[in-house]
Amino acid sequence: MLELKNIRKTYQLGGQETIALENINLSFNRNQFVSILGQSGSGKTTLLNIIGGLDQYTSGDLLVEGTSTKTFKDKDWDSYRNTTIGFVFQSYNLISHLSVLENVKMALSLTGVSTKEAEKRALTALDEVGLSEHAKKRPNQLSGGQMQRVAIARALVNNPKILLADEPTGALDSKTSIQIMELIKRISHDRLVIMVTHNPELAEQYSDRIIRVADGSILEDTVPVNVLNDSTEKFTKSKTSMSFFTAIKSSMKNLLTKKTRTALVTLAGSIGIISIGLVLALSNGMKSYIDDLQKETLSGIPLTISQTSAGNFDSMTESPDKNNTNQSSNEITIKEPITTHQNIYNEDILGNGETFIDFLEREAKGKYSNLTYDTGYQMNVLTKNTNGDIQQVKKEAADPSNPASMFSMGSLFAKLPANGENILSQYEVIASENKAFTYPTNQNELILFVNYDNTLNKDISKALGLSSEETQDAQQLLGKEFRMIDNDSFYEKSPVGNFFINQVIDERMYDNGLEAKIVAIMRPKDATATLISASLGYTEQLETKMLAKEKDSDIIKFMKEHPKTNALSPSNDEIDEDTHKSIMQTLGGDTSPTNISIYPSTFDEREAITKVIGDYNRQIAKKFGKNSDDYTKYMIQYTDMAEMMTGMMTTMLDTITVILTAFAAISLIVSSVMIGILTYVSVVERTKEIGIMRALGARKKDITRIFNAEAGLIGLISGIVGVMITMLLTIPINSIVSKLIDMDGFNASLKPEYGLALILLSVILTLVAGFIPSKGAAKKDPVEALRTE
Ligand code: ADP
Ligand code: MG
Repeated sequence: MLELKNIRKTYQLGGQETIALENINLSFNRNQFVSILGQSGSGKTTLLNIIGGLDQYTSGDLLVEGTSTKTFKDKDWDSYRNTTIGFVFQSYNLISHLSVLENVKMALSLTGVSTKEAEKRALTALDEVGLSEHAKKRPNQLSGGQMQRVAIARALVNNPKILLADEPTGALDSKTSIQIMELIKRISHDRLVIMVTHNPELAEQYSDRIIRVADGSILEDTVPVNVLNDSTEKFTKSKTSMSFFTAIKSSMKNLLTKKTRTALVTLAGSIGIISIGLVLALSNGMKSYIDDLQKETLSGIPLTISQTSAGNFDSMTESPDKNNTNQSSNEITIKEPITTHQNIYNEDILGNGETFIDFLEREAKGKYSNLTYDTGYQMNVLTKNTNGDIQQVKKEAADPSNPASMFSMGSLFAKLPANGENILSQYEVIASENKAFTYPTNQNELILFVNYDNTLNKDISKALGLSSEETQDAQQLLGKEFRMIDNDSFYEKSPVGNFFINQVIDERMYDNGLEAKIVAIMRPKDATATLISASLGYTEQLETKMLAKEKDSDIIKFMKEHPKTNALSPSNDEIDEDTHKSIMQTLGGDTSPTNISIYPSTFDEREAITKVIGDYNRQIAKKFGKNSDDYTKYMIQYTDMAEMMTGMMTTMLDTITVILTAFAAISLIVSSVMIGILTYVSVVERTKEIGIMRALGARKKDITRIFNAEAGLIGLISGIVGVMITMLLTIPINSIVSKLIDMDGFNASLKPEYGLALILLSVILTLVAGFIPSKGAAKKDPVEALRTE
């Protein structure tokens, strides 16, 4: 069944060729017990390894059941070792971290036998060598003879046709040796046994045939085989393959035998994951804080569309023109200045009979709590100071010698949105004439707004005609009266020219004014309130009433008749259309809005409104073309202060997150390298095991698979541990943040998809790190691997 034809084996050592075997011609029949005798170094082991397919011959041929092995590929040799050959070694070569039973089962794990079947067959094999009751023990709990029996059981479990034993009794005492010899003799009744020994007595006593080897050549063959008795059976190449599950199980076992080390490496590996996870969780927490801020605190801030818009911050900062490739240093290109954008919302641009305002009111209906139009109308207001003197309520012009006065130039009066929802979300009533008061709705109701810290600026106090005392009784301020003076009472035509002059401010003018009084004092709930920058809030009803009067006033009529004359100035200089419009707006003769404020009450409403504006602009783009000048001219630009505030925060946060993640990634790389080193150490430690597995028929691929599985497993555990620790750490972090810093809505948490991604990343990185050592393990020469201790 086995023929060696002219086998020659040489080793290349330091450029020098050593001949280990030469001119070997041997034939073997089944059910023989053949002993190979010879001195140390004569080539016995080499011969056995070549027969067993563990080592390859240099020239000649080895025929198995008449099949030449010349064309055998790696996988054919693997299958040959797994199905046809059983190996028994002098040093037993059992895997110490596996039980006796698992050692025996290992050969079966390569053939795809089910676990149950493998267990049954392994137990049968152990029974045959008389060790079934020791199945659960570890190899080092057995005596030498027992260990060799386990090795024999392992060699027999696949029912190979050939059993190869390399000095199986070399490490045993003579009594035990005899027992092993008896066992091998029994085995040889139904298979070919080739045994290397240097004990001639044992060979004489037990074997059917003795082959003597000296210096790599055959010296004597007691029963040479001339006629092969086996042409009926053919060698069939079958496939061995270790299932992925088996590989995982094997590496899991190995990891479990080194619990402390595995735990430490896993912890080290998880540090990288934890650091990235924490950065992501914290940034997520900040994002949720910003979202919260946007949703709750900032959602009441109106979107504004002004007659003249400066656009967004983006368009306000000049960015270099990327298309301008002319970078030559001796040419200077003149370019257009950044211009403000005129929003045209009062004209039918689309040609469908609808202005932008019509469109907005129709499309955004129900998506806001307030929609207010500022008209630009500036009321002339009188009040009496504490001495009873009548004074006009107006801010003094900024003092050019005091630059700080420029900052307090905000207007004194502001029209309040009709619906109190937005104002009341930011402001609270601190004093009111009527206890049941919530929000002004009548034309004669005014609200005094004071600062967050209950202060009122001195210039405002003066303008309102309050007493000069340092502290004021809030109740005393309630009921303070103001008179709104219409144009006809305030201005009169100059007798000397085409302009109007102010009438004398007196008791008569005061009495003719429309009465309104402070009914409540309001204060911001916290320092972030931004809705009102004025001090006196009046109702829409008051403005409507006044505008109705102004419409037919003399000065308005005059302005309409003389569109090029400024009625408020004695100068004869002609004015342009824009100036005319703005004067008319100030006087209340042109009520077209200077500013549209849309107050959403929720974040979703804000989104919906921006979408409405976007839809309008898309229609403009469709009509005029996206790149046309008309599009740029007619599109509507809005300002979203809330978006600008949170947008900047988000950009900053994203930048910080990227930087921190990069730092955290370094620790991840360090831990990956560590796992690579560990895999390498593991390969070195398990070199012998690799040799054994190869002898049992494991493919290179299977070896790679085992070490990849080990690295992957560490990566998986590190990843899971890392993600879990991160999640646990977010609990104290959140409680510390909420206790120490007042950040409502801050909630650090690792998003599940990020958690999964991190685990995956951990597995991938450790697989990459373990790849080279795993490949190295597979490349190990099985003969050399077996020789290592
Ligand atoms: P035995 O088993 O009879 O003691 P071996 O078969 O182990 O002898 O060795 C036969 C000869 O081949 C020896 O000279 C040995 O040094 C040499 N040899 C065996 N394996 C190798 C190897 N891997 N590299 C180089 N020389 C080797
Ligand atoms: Mg030897």
